Amino acid sequence: MVEIASGILGYPRIGRRRELKWALERYWSGQSSEQDLQLAARQIRQEAWQAQARSGASWVAVGDFSLYDHVLDLALQLGAIPERFGGASASRDLATYFLMARGKAPASKRELPPLEMTKWFDTNYHYLVPELGPDVRFAYQRGSLVEQVLEAKAAGFSPRPVVVGPVSFLLLAKDAARRTGPLERLAELLPAYSALLADLAVAGAQSVQLDEPCLSTDLPEGAAEVFRKAYRALATSALPLELASYFGPLHENLELALELPVHSLHLDALAAPEEARAAARRLGSAQALSLGLIDGRNVWRADLETRLGLAEELLAQLGSERLMVASSCSLLHVPVDVQSERTLDAEIAPWLSFANQKLSELSVLAKGLRSGRAAVAEALAASRAVVAARRASRRGHEPAVRERLAQLPPSAFSRSADAAERRPRQRIALGLPPLPTTTIGSFPQTRELRELRARTKAGEVSGADYETELRRIIDETLAEQEQLGLDVLVHGEPERNDMVEYFAEQLEGMLATSEGWVQSYGSRCVKPPLLFGDVSRPAPMTVRWATYAQSRSHRPVKGMLTGPVTILKWSFVRDDEPLEHSCRTLALALRDEVCDLERAGIAIIQVDEPAFREALPLRKRDQARYLDWSVQSFRLSTAAARPETQIHTHMCYSEFAELVEAIRALDADVISLEAARSAMDVAVAFARSGYDTELGLGIWDIHSPRVPPAAEMFELLERALSVLDVDRVWVNPDCGLKTRSWDEVRPALANLVQAARAARGRIRESG
Ligand code: GLN
Ligand code: ZN
Repeated sequence: MVEIASGILGYPRIGRRRELKWALERYWSGQSSEQDLQLAARQIRQEAWQAQARSGASWVAVGDFSLYDHVLDLALQLGAIPERFGGASASRDLATYFLMARGKAPASKRELPPLEMTKWFDTNYHYLVPELGPDVRFAYQRGSLVEQVLEAKAAGFSPRPVVVGPVSFLLLAKDAARRTGPLERLAELLPAYSALLADLAVAGAQSVQLDEPCLSTDLPEGAAEVFRKAYRALATSALPLELASYFGPLHENLELALELPVHSLHLDALAAPEEARAAARRLGSAQALSLGLIDGRNVWRADLETRLGLAEELLAQLGSERLMVASSCSLLHVPVDVQSERTLDAEIAPWLSFANQKLSELSVLAKGLRSGRAAVAEALAASRAVVAARRASRRGHEPAVRERLAQLPPSAFSRSADAAERRPRQRIALGLPPLPTTTIGSFPQTRELRELRARTKAGEVSGADYETELRRIIDETLAEQEQLGLDVLVHGEPERNDMVEYFAEQLEGMLATSEGWVQSYGSRCVKPPLLFGDVSRPAPMTVRWATYAQSRSHRPVKGMLTGPVTILKWSFVRDDEPLEHSCRTLALALRDEVCDLERAGIAIIQVDEPAFREALPLRKRDQARYLDWSVQSFRLSTAAARPETQIHTHMCYSEFAELVEAIRALDADVISLEAARSAMDVAVAFARSGYDTELGLGIWDIHSPRVPPAAEMFELLERALSVLDVDRVWVNPDCGLKTRSWDEVRPALANLVQAARAARGRIRESG
């Protein structure tokens, strides 16, 4: 039997039942002690290690666990602590840790701006951005990583510590003072990394996994040299370095990766099997290749035969000493266990593989390599059966949907009149004042409302009572808006638990899970639905709420849909068809909904695309294609609307300046954007680009509980009006209001309306 190492790059950290979330929230609210929190954390780690050991993995990942974020853990251990949190003399304890993460520490009144948070590459995980101002002095101090290595050893596991590598760490950081690029801090950073590696060796680690996911991105000038320097220096460490890249092919960076003096190189062999083959030919004779063969980011059972085939081919070339099999990336991005699901569609359930199932799949590959295919014949047959079932399933290949897609004429992607022609017709149809005021869609999701939905789901509230209650809530929400003096109303989305899940539950080809949680950031988790087949819409999804709301007010009430790109991006997507295909099937379903809303008398329809920017591929080379199909899908979903029907869209969470062209190509009549925090830079960018449709720029940052005074909103509005035509500007908050309370929403919207009225007054005076 040949010995081939296998294991994963990281395991989910929230616990099977989101134990981490509950433990953190109890601790933050003062209901439990630090000891309780650490105990819960230890329990989660032990379970993660047991799962890995049970599966026969050669190591257990350590350092993948974090109380909030693994980049923050590392920053703390390396001493990257900005002055406002205590700088070099800060005690590196939980108080400092949570202060940096959240801007407040339990049992302390102190509040500070926390570290900025941003998306971890193109996943839905968010990390805290290390701030490397001139005040930051790197100095290693033993912390969570070595402690957990000791903990794992004490419990009898063989730990493989996992750390973000120095170059990715610097590229993920920002230089708060903007004086030097973060990469220039390498020389200062390296001694701290060396000290960390030395300490890991002392603690008994056998090797260290250095994650450099930025190898899958377009590297900035000079980064290659920084890589060489960094790894030359770290190669003197007592520990073998396992360099891990993931989230896509390396392309031109493969050369660089192959040059680095590391013990092994991990590649995402799913994204680029040919790169794995190239690496196998080119690696040094003492170097090993780690093959990422089990998808760490998606939830489908693997086609084990194909993957085993690739591994066998490379095994013949490299020998068992020089080959490892692994997950493509950390399993942080998938839920823990399919077994936790309470009710799953019987056809789809066998197709799924969450973290624990992925461990089993990996062990099949390892065993197949070690002992030959006959030893895993049964598992291979099962995998083959799943692949065949998926291929044969009618739900993956809905003939009616395919036919409809194939028959789409070019005109299906364009409105019947162009924007300039639509505007006057809509203006007459709607009769709105200048600078019309509106909101983005949702109103506060109160505890009462969440309980009502939960109790209905549990069968404790009848469908009829639920309906009556929701109508009452819609009535109240409309009355509030009328009283506030808003011009275009919304029904408030009380029927929606989540803007994607709500649609997933009603669409064919999609499914919501009951326990499929993954971490978004800190204690916040999301439950992405499964997009498993050709999507279609068996029945209208929003029409009865929209028409009810419209029947209760004389002012226009917007219909509210989630756009195709956002539904796609916030779901686990099928891996047997291109994203583009799935997006189009979603667009068709939404197109039918748009038509039904219009037929029911809804004059304004908003199709939200908050994920439009974040779905942009990591690599420049892939972006134009994405923009092409995403824009086409959005157009497909909206273009059937009559010229008089006003199509709105909404985007948030991002920088839009670079996307102005694509946003214009969506051909929406009105677009609302997050703008309050960037102090209206967006307005300037759009004005400069000659953008000529109507624009709603957020003048209230709804992400904070603060109620901005009318004067402040007025000033933001004036800034927008200084660069944009008056008759193109809408007045609205940055985003939906579902996370806010009525006590914040009422005064803030009153101020918003007041600001709009003041601006109208100014226009009349000067006009
Ligand atoms: N219409 C949605 C809401 O108001 C939009 C949410 C979003 O942009 N994330 O909640
Ligand atoms: Zn938004």
